[in-house]
Amino acid sequence: MAKFLIERRLRGFICTTAHPVGCSRNVEEQVAKALKNKFTGPRSVLVIGASTGYGLASRIAAAFGAGADTLGVFFERPADGDRTASAGWYNTVAFEELARRSGLLAASVNGDAFSDDIKEKTIELIGKKFKKIDLVIYSLAAPRRTDRSGVTHKSVLKPIGKPFVGKTVNLDHGTVTEVTIDPATDEEIAGTVAVMGGEDWELWMGALASAGVLAKGAKTVAYGYIGPELTWPIYRDGTIGRAKAHLESTVDKINAILRPMGGEAHIAINKAVVTQASAAIPVVPLYISILFRLMKSMGTHETCIDQMLRLFRDRIYGKNLQPGAIDGCGRFRVDDLEMDRNLQSEIAKLWPLVTSENIRRLTDFDGYQSDFLNLFGFDVHGVDYNEAVETDLPLKELP
Ligand code: NAD
Repeated sequence: MAKFLIERRLRGFICTTAHPVGCSRNVEEQVAKALKNKFTGPRSVLVIGASTGYGLASRIAAAFGAGADTLGVFFERPADGDRTASAGWYNTVAFEELARRSGLLAASVNGDAFSDDIKEKTIELIGKKFKKIDLVIYSLAAPRRTDRSGVTHKSVLKPIGKPFVGKTVNLDHGTVTEVTIDPATDEEIAGTVAVMGGEDWELWMGALASAGVLAKGAKTVAYGYIGPELTWPIYRDGTIGRAKAHLESTVDKINAILRPMGGEAHIAINKAVVTQASAAIPVVPLYISILFRLMKSMGTHETCIDQMLRLFRDRIYGKNLQPGAIDGCGRFRVDDLEMDRNLQSEIAKLWPLVTSENIRRLTDFDGYQSDFLNLFGFDVHGVDYNEAVETDLPLKELP
C-alpha cells in the first residue's frame, strides 16, 4: 500500500487533511479514560453522528466504559489516492480495531443519516447482528438535510431579529476582530430548524420502534447547549437556538412512541468543547479559549470523553442523582461546571479586555489551537509527522 507524508491544510475553521496515526492516538487516549471509569450501563447502543466530537465520545463511553456493543452512523470520506480520509473515518477505523480486540461488537454505517435508505440499512444491520438496542444517542451536527420530499434545507449560524455585532477570533492567526452578522431570514430560520431540530430524531425513533429493534425500556438522548449570555445572540437566541428549542420540544413526541415499551427520551445539555461543529460558530472559539484557561486553572476542565463518561455514569445510568443533575425542564445537565457563577463572572470580566495582542496571555488560545489541530490528528503528542504513513485504511465489514 502507498504511504504518504501528510501535511495539515487549514481552510478557515476546517482542516482538509487528516492524520491516521494522530486520530488513532486520540481515540486510544479516550478509550484509556473510559477503561478507568467503568460503569453499569447499556448493552447495545446506536450512535447517530458517531465519528467525531460528542458522538464518538459517547460511543467510546458506551463500549469501553460499559462494555456495550455499538453501531455507529456517520457521514465521512474514505481516502482517495493521495487525498486523506476525513478525521471521523480514521477515528472509526481506530475505534473498531480496539473494540474488536476487546471482544466488543462494533459496526458502522457510513452515509446520510437523514435519508430513509441509511435508516433502513441501519435497521437491517441491527436485526442481523445486534441485540435489541437499549440506547440511541442522537449527535448529528450537519450543514444541510435533504428531507423525504427531496427538499434540501440549509442550516445557518445567524442571529434572529437584529444584526449581531461582536468579537470573534481567527483560528489560524489568533487575530481578534469585530464581526457583524445580519439577522437570518424566515427561510433561514426554518432551514436551520429542519436540519438541527428534532424532526429527523423523531423519524429515527419511529422507524426503529416500528421495526421492533428497540429493547424494552430503551432510552434515547440528544444533545443541546445553553451557555452564558454573551453567546446568546448568536447561539441560544439565534437560528441554532431555535433548532435546539425544536429538538427539546420533540422529546414529548418521542416519549409517546417509547413510553408503551417502557422507554424514554431525554435532552442532555453539554458543555462547550472544541469540535468541528463548535469551531464554525462565531464567538464560541474565543469564549472557549477563555473558559478553558479558567477551568484548567480551577481543575474543572473536561474534554468530550470526560463529559460523556459523567453523563452516562452519573446521569443516564446514575443511581442516586445529585441535585442539579436534571433541571426543571427534565434535561440532564453536564454543563454544571461550565455554568458555575463565579467562573462565568470572571469570563464576563475578561471578555471585553481580550485583543489580538493579549489573547495568548489572557486566554488559553494556544490550547484551543492545539485541540483544534488534534481533531484532525495533528499536533498530537508522540506522533512523527515526518514519517510517511498509509492513508487508505478500510472500515471492515462484519463477518
Ligand atoms: P461534530 O461535528 O464533532 O460531529 C458531528 C457528527 O455528525 C459526525 O459524526 C458527522 O459524521 C455526523 N454527521 C454530520 N452530517 C451527517 C449526515 N448527513 N449523516 C450522518 N452523519 C452526519 O459535532 P459535535 O460538536 O460533537 O456535535 C454533536 C451534537 O452535540 C450537536 O447536536 C451539538 O449541537 C451538540 N453540542 C455540541 C457542543 C460543543 O461544544 N461542541 C456543546 C453542546 C452540545
